[in-house]
Amino acid sequence: MKYASLIVLIVCLLPGFSFLNAWSGQPFNQVIAKALIDDKPPRRVVKSNAEWKKILTPDQYAVLREHGTERAGTSPLNDIHEHGTFYCAACHNPLFSYDTKFNSGTGWPSFFAPIAKNAVKEESDKSYGMIRTEVLCSVCDGHLGHVFNDGPKPTGLRYCMNGVAMTFEKK
Ligand SMILES: [Zn+2]
Repeated sequence: MKYASLIVLIVCLLPGFSFLNAWSGQPFNQVIAKALIDDKPPRRVVKSNAEWKKILTPDQYAVLREHGTERAGTSPLNDIHEHGTFYCAACHNPLFSYDTKFNSGTGWPSFFAPIAKNAVKEESDKSYGMIRTEVLCSVCDGHLGHVFNDGPKPTGLRYCMNGVAMTFEKK
């Protein structure tokens, strides 16, 4: 009698097991795979100063690695008027889309938003007796410029970038 109830119990549970099996098949694996992709650490490029000097031009090095500022109005990227993407000149991280570029009248390429939230990172910069927000490439920590609160809609931000720190590729 005991065994009979055990068999009945197993038979009743079997459909449940096969349901679980089906559920934990392909879709479940896809869920895990997606989670792994999402958890992947962001790309990082770390090089010594000597290595950067080999890759970058002296002007690029002065801005990207030594936090310099190019002379206003000197970058050919000021005159870009076509759709495409602006990349970090050091590590080719996509930084800004042409769609967010605007003429700030400053002589530096200006944007109202980065291409993605994690494309750049921001740090407080207290140099030259000013409190500014420095903008760096999130992949290689290269100095790109500063961000100010006097930009146009929709963000009200002005990402004031050094053109020499970026490259442009047409869409
Ligand atoms: Zn970079």
